[in-house]
Amino acid sequence: MQTTRSEALFQQAQSFFVGGVNSPVRAFGAVGGTPRFIAGGEGAELIDVDGNRYIDYVLSWGPLIVGHAHPYVREALTKQIDRGTSYGAPSEAEVRLAARIQRHFPSMERIRMVNSGAEATLGALRLARAFTRRNKIVKFDGCYHGAVDALLVRAGSGVATLGLPDSPGIPESVTADTIVLPYNDLEAAQRLFAAQGEEIAAIIVEPVTNNMGVILPQTGFLEGLRKLTDAYGALLIFDEVATGFRVSLGGAQGSFGIRPDLTTLGKVVGGGLPVGAFGGRADILELLAPQGPVYQAGTLSGNPLAMVAGDATIALLEQPGRWEYLETMAERLQQAIETAAQRADLPVVVHRAGTMTGLFFAENDPQNFEQAKATHVEWYPTFFHALLDAGIYLPPSPFETLFVSTAHTQALLDRTAEALSAAMQHVHTQVA
Ligand SMILES: *Cc1c(COP(=O)(O)O)cnc(C)c1O
Repeated sequence: MQTTRSEALFQQAQSFFVGGVNSPVRAFGAVGGTPRFIAGGEGAELIDVDGNRYIDYVLSWGPLIVGHAHPYVREALTKQIDRGTSYGAPSEAEVRLAARIQRHFPSMERIRMVNSGAEATLGALRLARAFTRRNKIVKFDGCYHGAVDALLVRAGSGVATLGLPDSPGIPESVTADTIVLPYNDLEAAQRLFAAQGEEIAAIIVEPVTNNMGVILPQTGFLEGLRKLTDAYGALLIFDEVATGFRVSLGGAQGSFGIRPDLTTLGKVVGGGLPVGAFGGRADILELLAPQGPVYQAGTLSGNPLAMVAGDATIALLEQPGRWEYLETMAERLQQAIETAAQRADLPVVVHRAGTMTGLFFAENDPQNFEQAKATHVEWYPTFFHALLDAGIYLPPSPFETLFVSTAHTQALLDRTAEALSAAMQHVHTQVA
C-alpha cells in the first residue's frame, strides 16, 4: 500500500500541530505507523490522499451512523448554506432537532445545545453541583467524559480513590472533589455513599462504555446507581455522547429502561458536525441562564448547519427498518470477529450493545478498566496494521469501539470477514 502522500503531509503537519494532529488518538501513538490523511469519505468508505480505500469502522468516532456524505444529509446542509451558516439568534432548526431528541429521550424535558460532548458534560456537571449545592462528583475508572478538567481523572486502583488529575495543568484543587470508583462495582458505590452520600452532587457514568473498550453494565449496576442517587438526593448523569442513538435509538436509557436526571449527548446528534447537548429534568434545567443563575453560553451553540445535519441523520434512522438493519450489520461484524478468532485459535471476547462493538484479546471477560488493561493489548497493533493494509479501518487503539453505519452492506461485511480471518491468523503466527 502506497502511503507517500500521507507521510509527507504528516511531516508537514508536525510543524504546525503538536504530534501532527488536532486530537491525540489520531496520531497512531498506540499502534505505530503513519496516520492516513483523509481526502474523502463515501458511504462506508474512507479514501486517503494516496487514493487507498478503507471500509470505515471508526466513522469519525461514532457520529457518521448513516455513513459519509449521505445524500439526504448533504441536501439538508446545502439548503441551509444558502440561507446562511450562523445567526447568533434562535432558529427553527434548533426546535426541530430538540423535538426529535426528546421523542427518543423523554427524560430530557429541557435541552441545551452546545458544540461538543465535552461541553455537554461540563454543563451537566455545573448544573448538578448548583442544583444539589454539593461539590463531590463520582465517576468510574476508565470512563471518559471529554477533556474536562474535573473529569480528567482515572486515579489508581483501590476503592474510592481520591481524585488526582491525569494531566499536568489541572490543579489538584479542581479534581479534589472527583471520586473514582471501579466500573460495575455497585458495592463500592454503596460503601462510598454510606460514608459521604450527603456530600455527593452526582454520579456521572457511561451507561455502556466507549472509552475503555465496550463494556456493558452488569445486571443491577445502573439500577443500583439510580436507587443510590435517589436515596441520597444526588443526581444521576448518563453520559450518552457515544451511546445516544447507538445502543438503541433512545440510547442506553431506552434500552435499559432507566431514567437519569441529566443526560449528555454528542456524536450522532450532530450528524458529523460539531454538536453536543445536555438536558434532563425541567426543575434542574431551569436553573440555567437565562431562567436561572447558572451561566452557560456559546457563540455558535445551536448552529443551524449542525442542527440540520443532526436532524437529517436522526430522521434517516427513524425510517422503518433502518435501525434493525444497523443492528443486523453490527451482529454480523460481531460474528465475523468471533469466527475469525476461533479459526485462528485466538482468545477473543467480543462485547456488543446495539450498534457498538468492541473486542478484547483475552481469556477472561473484562468487566472494568483494570481488567481491560490486563488483556493482550500488545497484540492489537499487529492486528490493526494487518487490517489497515487490507483496506479495513479500525480505531487505532485497543480501547475503542467499532461502529457500523447504514451504508455498510453485506458485501462490505463479507470483505471485512475475510480480512479479519487473515489478520487473526497473522496475529496468531506473529505475536500470540
Ligand atoms: C466522545 C465522548 C465524549 C467527548 O465528546 P467530544 O465531542 O469529543 O468532546 C464524552 N463522553 C463520551 C462517553 C464520549 O464517548
